[in-house]
Amino acid sequence: MSRDAPTPPAGPHRTVACPACGTQCAFEPWNPWRPFCSERCRITDLGAWASEDYRVPGKPEEGDSGGGNDDPKG
Ligand SMILES: [Zn+2]
Repeated sequence: MSRDAPTPPAGPHRTVACPACGTQCAFEPWNPWRPFCSERCRITDLGAWASEDYRVPGKPEEGDSGGGNDDPKG
């Protein structure tokens, strides 16, 4: 059970680095997985987003209550 990339039509085509693995793949309308190189990479990337792997860095959990302002500058 393996899926291969669609057969590219004759003629030159642009290529782009796959965001998931960096492989050069065709960036053309006939490529359903663009800008990814394959369905696998596309799903992997989407899955990463779904699992909040790309979540923005938030402030760390600090159990320091009191609000001590010890700013060196001032
Ligand atoms: Zn890839």
